[in-house]
Amino acid sequence: MIIPILKRGFSNFIRPLISPMNPAETVFIRDPLNLKSKIESFSSDFGIISDFDSTLTKYSVNGFKLSTINLLISILDKNHSKDVKDLFLHYHPIEIDPSISLDKKMLLMHEWWAKEQEVFLKAHIEKHMITSAIENLPFYFRYGILEVISICERNKIPFTIVSGGVGNIISEMIKAITSYQIKIKSNFIEFDENGKLLGFSTPIVHSQNKFHSIRGKKIQKSYFVLGDIPSDLLILKEINDETKVISIGYFNDEALASLDDFRDFDIVIRGDGNLSVLEYLLCLVLKLPRPSYQFLGSLGWL
Ligand SMILES: [Mg+2]
Repeated sequence: MIIPILKRGFSNFIRPLISPMNPAETVFIRDPLNLKSKIESFSSDFGIISDFDSTLTKYSVNGFKLSTINLLISILDKNHSKDVKDLFLHYHPIEIDPSISLDKKMLLMHEWWAKEQEVFLKAHIEKHMITSAIENLPFYFRYGILEVISICERNKIPFTIVSGGVGNIISEMIKAITSYQIKIKSNFIEFDENGKLLGFSTPIVHSQNKFHSIRGKKIQKSYFVLGDIPSDLLILKEINDETKVISIGYFNDEALASLDDFRDFDIVIRGDGNLSVLEYLLCLVLKLPRPSYQFLGSLGWL
């Protein structure tokens, strides 16, 4: 059962948007000595880049698996919803198949989103439907999101979300929990002044081309990078080798992947956990008092 734990005064939503703390998460550190040295050499000029679905949000709540795309599907009629699900069944296996080259995947992921947009266009989605879908479905941020944002706000740390999901949903949910300016690079549905669908933002952002989203942007000297699939690490594919990166991976579903698939992440969170590891690391590099959640015991020696 989800227990309502927090409601901020400026939220547009009646239901809480943040999951309670999950004390059952486990934290796996691939190479502790390497992580320690990365933390010691982490620059004070750093930023956070994160995926959204199943990274900043819970993978599963009371058996429901939700993402921004599922939320959008929930407002489609039966036929259009079937069309989107069929596209998922066709393209998702390609998305996670490590034997397919990046170039080929880039083309196919673009094709997937383009076909999905055609369905959304035909379905005549209206703006108000998005707000009501967020209100009515159990889609939650991970516990710790407010603590992380609060540290970013107080220390002016740039926080960017790069998501191949639906930007409108991300933006609505972020605005409901904070006024801090978090940059969102994603796919936005454009509506006219009456809330009728006009079209889509370009270029399409998908799981394999996230690095395009930071091309030409100011690059910090160090980054925390968060994701829930190995290709989320591609976001910093084009930055130079001197940039220090500490990566946190959410290994949400042990039926779909193995821990070895997450070998390129410095830290792996198992058990659909919290954002408290990031909170802890932020406190460490900023020399702030560290939180003392018991489930973070494995980080105590850092
Ligand atoms: Mg994700």
